[in-house]
Amino acid sequence: MSKPSFESLKLKKELVNGIFAHGFEEPSSIQQQAIPAILTGKDTICQAQSGTGKTATFAIAALQQLDESIKSTQILIMSPTRELALQSHAVVTSIGQRMNFRTHYFVGGGEVSEDVEALNGGVQIAVGTPGRIVHMITNGKLKCNEMKMIIIDEADEMLQRGFAEQLVQIFKCTPKNAQVVLVSATMPKEVLEITNDIMNDPIKILVKEDELTLDGIRQYQVVLQEEWKVSTLLDIFKVVSVSQAVVFCNAVNRVKALYEALIQKDFACAQIHSDMDQAERNKVMDLFRKGEHRILIATNVIARGIDVQNVSLVINYDIPKSPETYLHRIGRSGRFGRKGFAINFVTERDQELLKTIQEKFSTKIDAMPTDLSKLI
Ligand code: ADP
Repeated sequence: MSKPSFESLKLKKELVNGIFAHGFEEPSSIQQQAIPAILTGKDTICQAQSGTGKTATFAIAALQQLDESIKSTQILIMSPTRELALQSHAVVTSIGQRMNFRTHYFVGGGEVSEDVEALNGGVQIAVGTPGRIVHMITNGKLKCNEMKMIIIDEADEMLQRGFAEQLVQIFKCTPKNAQVVLVSATMPKEVLEITNDIMNDPIKILVKEDELTLDGIRQYQVVLQEEWKVSTLLDIFKVVSVSQAVVFCNAVNRVKALYEALIQKDFACAQIHSDMDQAERNKVMDLFRKGEHRILIATNVIARGIDVQNVSLVINYDIPKSPETYLHRIGRSGRFGRKGFAINFVTERDQELLKTIQEKFSTKIDAMPTDLSKLI
């Protein structure tokens, strides 16, 4: 078989040039499978592990389907968090750098007037979070009549939680024959069932649940008591020399408290959660992407999708309540085949949760070895 190539996907010349300029040389496995599927024009469900290149998959497909000569909004890309919408927007912009089109991101916390101004100038690819997109549709600024493709990233989260109502509103306004593309690393059965309402005989590219292994990510657990968590965390960072790490807590207050405790001990780190204003959140993410923050304490606001290639360690300071969240969180490390590590802080009452996670993904989470520095 010939080597996979972007040229063989029969993409527009400027698009292929943009892909190369973005730094990709050949398509990843999911890109080889899913880009042609989406380009058939049929509704598509695309599931693949974290870090395998799903963002570029839908970005490339969207750019290929875009008619640059039509100035109206043709493609809508939606994500559950503002950070993710920004990231997808950046990938679309970068991969489309040799093409001539207009895109804008619409997220809560940003200036409505800027969004309106962008729309007045013409936005061909709209990227955003559902709340702001609904806002722009209902105020009549974002016109949906020419939309031909609706991409829902982190689709299981979007269809299951709080966003369902907003999506219903959006689908009421978009053309019935618009192509729907759902993307996620996780796609629980319950969610697959409700996709029937918005999709028409979709092509399904699915990874079986028990194949959603966490290959490439070494996972460890430390059994401890709540009071030991801060000192254990500090001990770990004393011995491991990772370039960047994310420490996840289960609530905004937990992030704040841990951040304060670490700062008091002169330990350099940053925090991100939904109680910060958007400008501040963007600044933290920007510095983290640039490597200026090495350790980021976070809520689930960045559990999904966020791609920072130098993150090689994820610590679950609190064990997440759902196995899907576990998979997404630890998938922040080990991006695109790199090595990743996850360390779980397990208190007595987390034992059950950890057992469920291990069973669900047929994975084994070993006790953290004492000579950690040799392993990470
Ligand atoms: P996912 O959405 O599946 O979690 P991303 O789309 O964020 O994954 O991609 C993970 C990382 O891999 C990103 O840093 C991205 O730039 C990189 N990547 C994606 N596709 C390719 C490719 N074809 N060649 C090289 N790197 C790629």
